[in-house]
Amino acid sequence: MNYNKYFNGALNSLKNEGRYRVFNDIKRTLGNFPKAIHYSNSEEKEVSVWCSNDYLGMGQNKNVLTAMHEAIDSSGAGSGGTRNISGTSHYHVLLEKELADLHNKEGALLFTSGYISNEASLSTIASILPDCVVLSDELNHASMIQGIKNSKAERFIFNHNDPEHLDKILKTFHPDRPKLVAFESVYSMDGDIAPIKELCEVSKANNALTYLDEVHAVGMYGPRGGGIAEREGLMDELDIIEGTLAKAYGTMGGYIASNKNIIDVIRSFASSFIFTTSLPPAIAAGALASVKYLKKSSLERNIHQARAKSLKEKLKQTGIVVMPSESHIVPILVGDPTRCKKASDILLSDFSIYIQPINYPTVPKGKERLRITPSPLHDEKMIDYLVESLKKVWRELNISPIS
Ligand SMILES: *Cc1c(COP(=O)(O)O)cnc(C)c1O
Repeated sequence: MNYNKYFNGALNSLKNEGRYRVFNDIKRTLGNFPKAIHYSNSEEKEVSVWCSNDYLGMGQNKNVLTAMHEAIDSSGAGSGGTRNISGTSHYHVLLEKELADLHNKEGALLFTSGYISNEASLSTIASILPDCVVLSDELNHASMIQGIKNSKAERFIFNHNDPEHLDKILKTFHPDRPKLVAFESVYSMDGDIAPIKELCEVSKANNALTYLDEVHAVGMYGPRGGGIAEREGLMDELDIIEGTLAKAYGTMGGYIASNKNIIDVIRSFASSFIFTTSLPPAIAAGALASVKYLKKSSLERNIHQARAKSLKEKLKQTGIVVMPSESHIVPILVGDPTRCKKASDILLSDFSIYIQPINYPTVPKGKERLRITPSPLHDEKMIDYLVESLKKVWRELNISPIS
């Protein structure tokens, strides 16, 4: 076999479909968020980043940075081991307590990323319960899908955000059969929000466990940043809440919060929790400072929502198609992979605006888009410049009629 020829063929098919991924080489500038230096072969230039998941700019929050510096200075660089073998630092312990409190649960468990937390938790629960069946929202994140697949449990997909469809499927199983219902609160590509209350009611009525991914909501919704479930007073209805420390909290790592037994089962059986080195103490310290800060301060959350609303309103006046989002996420429809990539390229080269194109398989074919994430630090002047620039690019590429 000619291995290289085979690999080249696989890459070329991605290129031909217009969905080959190109990473932009940037360096974020501390104190100047959301600006970054963009590096290309020929030049370095300052750009505005409009697609970061550091939603609130916590990646440069002073409390977070101070905590990280202090942890490095007192504990050094790495954790030195897996959680079981010398890698449980005091920072990990404090952070898990803080996260359990955030979600009003008995315990929490840290992972090296949100992806791993979903993969580890779902695969462990669904494989440990005898003959478990998993019900998964059709738009669930790749990390949840992978966890469910790895469990080898039988699985069914319910229509997106559709409690009636979920109920219909749940009713087909024996009442005593273990069932796990997995969904998200804020869906990251469309920005819509799940009917958590109804999904929990249907699940409880059918005696199923509930698992909620709040990755795009923790830090950002609820009076203490506990997510959509906190905002709606529903945290107690969920058996497991999963979140990340890498988006609104601006650092890295993932976690689940749940009752003591479920936490202990995953701690004791999940391979991707057990057999990997724990997060560096400085990361845990930074995340701890970030969670604590956003429990108390709603200022960033409030400005964030106001900026997202303002951007949506300004875009709607132009004829650019803003997809119906109920959250801070502002997706604008292009509907074609090549023009989507092209729009992103022109924004970067001619307007110093960085927005990554989102193409298949992240979103369905025909729904290619630019996914814009304003933050509290994108001011109204920057919003106006973005809207004017988008209008020019939309006209140039003939994407949708512009007023
Ligand atoms: C980003 C994301 C994750 C993974 O979180 P990381 O901390 O980046 O690994 C999980 N679920 C959803 C819905 C996400 O968008």
